[in-house]
Amino acid sequence: MEKIDEEAKYIKKQNIWRCQKCNSIIMAVKQIVSLHMKGTMAGFGETYRRTIPYCPQCEEKPLPYGFDHYGSKTDPETAELKLIKSLISDM
Ligand SMILES: [Zn+2]
Repeated sequence: MEKIDEEAKYIKKQNIWRCQKCNSIIMAVKQIVSLHMKGTMAGFGETYRRTIPYCPQCEEKPLPYGFDHYGSKTDPETAELKLIKSLISDM
């Protein structure tokens, strides 16, 4: 599959997200992401959810689960989760 710029991959037409390439209505998968330590598959069983958009024509359906590592810069939710956790543990 050719590489498509993320920004231009989907476009909004009349309030509906469509694929730039084939005009299909964009679907989404709710993914459960488990966090593990960077470079390993070890973690503490922490998970969070994210929604992954995809085109049912051009792309494979994303798996219902994924992996990320603690403090990942690519995922602001992770940093937020850690912040909330640190606030709770301080109480
Ligand atoms: Zn498409």
